[in-house]
Amino acid sequence: MIKKSGKTSGEVLGEKLFFNLKNCWDTAKAPELDKIEAFAGAYKQFLDAGKTEREFTRQVLDRLLKKGFTDIETLLGSAGGKNAAGRAAKGRGLVPGAKVYQHIRDKSLVFACIGSRPLSEGINIIGAHVDSPRIDLKTNPLYEDSELAMLDTHYYGGIKYYQWTTIPLAMHGTVIGKDGKRREICIGEDEADPVFTITDLLPHLAREQMQKKASEFFDGEGLDILAGSRPYPDEKAKNRVKLYLLSLLHEKYGILEEDFAGAEIEFVPAHKARDLGFDRSMIGAYGHDDRCCAYAGFSAALDFAASGEKSGPPEKTTVCLLTDKEEIGSMGNTGAQSRLFENFIAYLCALTGESSPEINLRRCFCKSSMLSADVNAAYDPNYDSVYDKKTASYFGKGLVLTKYTGRGGKFGGSEANAEFCQKVQALLNKNNVQWQYGDLGKVDQGGGGTIAQHIANLGVEVLDCGIPVLSMHSPFEVISKIDLYTAYKGCAAFLREA
Ligand code: MN
Ligand code: MN
Repeated sequence: MIKKSGKTSGEVLGEKLFFNLKNCWDTAKAPELDKIEAFAGAYKQFLDAGKTEREFTRQVLDRLLKKGFTDIETLLGSAGGKNAAGRAAKGRGLVPGAKVYQHIRDKSLVFACIGSRPLSEGINIIGAHVDSPRIDLKTNPLYEDSELAMLDTHYYGGIKYYQWTTIPLAMHGTVIGKDGKRREICIGEDEADPVFTITDLLPHLAREQMQKKASEFFDGEGLDILAGSRPYPDEKAKNRVKLYLLSLLHEKYGILEEDFAGAEIEFVPAHKARDLGFDRSMIGAYGHDDRCCAYAGFSAALDFAASGEKSGPPEKTTVCLLTDKEEIGSMGNTGAQSRLFENFIAYLCALTGESSPEINLRRCFCKSSMLSADVNAAYDPNYDSVYDKKTASYFGKGLVLTKYTGRGGKFGGSEANAEFCQKVQALLNKNNVQWQYGDLGKVDQGGGGTIAQHIANLGVEVLDCGIPVLSMHSPFEVISKIDLYTAYKGCAAFLREA
């Protein structure tokens, strides 16, 4: 049964029928390897400067402004009257090639490049979230105990408490003072800055603690941050360590104790993103979930918009959606469950001169396509038992496609339709973008959700995709550089051709 090629008929048939999941490092050629490294380098810098949702979206906004994007609010201001087409003709509406954005309460960001076809024929969307698990301050956080100044915290997102102790933490946040002015705080990122930490018990006294289950090892209430130990130099004063700390904050930021009540202060790992492994093939950092997908997604959307300046506007309008609060269920007016995305598309419909914006907004959703990009749990040899190796995602195997999410019997998740899955797979194959499976663990082992379901609820065809990550939700998550770049290529192909 030997054929001319030297292969047996069984080998030939195997090549035809089996899904051939390659390692992307094997197929990347020389010039592309440089691009992969450059992309990873730029990402690391972006990540270091964007450790909160506000910092991250502000950085994206800087890029948008440099590329000539317009704040959609400035256009809406002049959008009165009934004749939308007439307004467009006067140059106040959006024409093909126009680039607009909306920054929602400094935390979520959505931007679009207008295509030549009407919105009611559908648009192509890339979505990701920009919030990450962290340690937030309580509303009245500062107290003194035994002449130590401590900060009381409330963790944000699904963390394993013990991972956040005994590491250097940086303080990031926004405080609005009594004068109504906004103060941006960032302490612990500069090498010269002090850092903070959550202490742990020494092993010598931990006999009782070590008998506890990992889930009870620490309690959420006990994750208080060590923030000072020096008394204010006036022996008649009370609570002198706390007072000294407040005096320093007041001196630098003009903050009073009561200002913490409404402030948003986040403590995040103080370390920078680093190359990982002898071969430097990976990146270790805080906040890959989901900023690696956000970075790949918005970079693809920006580059696609820029390419349109040479080759003319795209046929379909492309939209990039970066949302906040995914880690706590996408709640609130900056989360994907809110109307923020719907509002933005409604504005686009009105400003592009759709004849009946109300109906055409609904038609637009039902004809649109979206990749919801979020990290997936990469297979980890240390924890083999929780994975189904046939459907797990792996480092170096490319963009993860996750047909469905949810827990138990697929509860609370979102499932992409077979037709749409095939469309995306074909599109990736055609563009030589390696993709892989990525269900989240064994059945009944746990589970999770993404922003996909909230946009799918509008009628949009949505498929979850993403980048495999190790140590998800820990202070030091790990991804592969080539998966990051493959995600970028996948998002670009999708925006162009979906
Ligand atoms: Mn995520
Ligand atoms: Mn997450």
